[in-house]
Amino acid sequence: MMHIVLFGPPGAGKGTQAGLLKERLRFAYIATGDLFRQHIKEQTELGRLAQTYIDRGDLVPDEVTIEMLKNEVNKFSGAPGIIFDGFPRTTVQAEALEKMLGENGEKIDLVLALEVPEDVLIQRILNRGKTSGRSDDTDRKTIIKRLKKYKEVTEPLKDYYRKKEVLHVIDGLQDIEAVHRDILQALEKTVGG
Ligand code: AMP
Repeated sequence: MMHIVLFGPPGAGKGTQAGLLKERLRFAYIATGDLFRQHIKEQTELGRLAQTYIDRGDLVPDEVTIEMLKNEVNKFSGAPGIIFDGFPRTTVQAEALEKMLGENGEKIDLVLALEVPEDVLIQRILNRGKTSGRSDDTDRKTIIKRLKKYKEVTEPLKDYYRKKEVLHVIDGLQDIEAVHRDILQALEKTVGG
């Protein structure tokens, strides 16, 4: 079973690329942001808790996020692979994921890090906010806070995965098809050893 992480700041194109990739590979897809939004829509206890953090542009606490992720991963034991989008976002999450997969003799095979300059990210998120219905996509202050959080606690994970020799940096400023092509190339390299 193959495990791929789509990594990058908000607005880098993780969701878009995950969509293209999962169609091609028929992998399961787990996006923690989508899962939280589903909980918010269904007004579950977890949804109510998550919303307070999401609306502020903060990360949902690790414990809660990891528990939700574990439940989701367990649903896909028969899949050829899993694409993770928006998880892990902290070192604690990365270590929890590694431990969980390790228990089944599995690991993260490939981390695709999409890189996009911050001014472009802000513009992309504001544009997305016009149609996404996400309040965290319309308020510039919240967007800037999310990007700051990314820089402080999420981006350092690049080093974590670089050391494990699974990191592939991809220029996310290219058009959607070119980014997809780069991702497929990184994938071929990984599969081919
Ligand atoms: P996203 O759709 O990935 O941009 O996520 C939207 C929001 O959900 C984030 O700004 C966080 O508040 C929360 N969230 C999503 N994934 C995680 C995660 N792995 N850890 C903590 N919070 C998360």
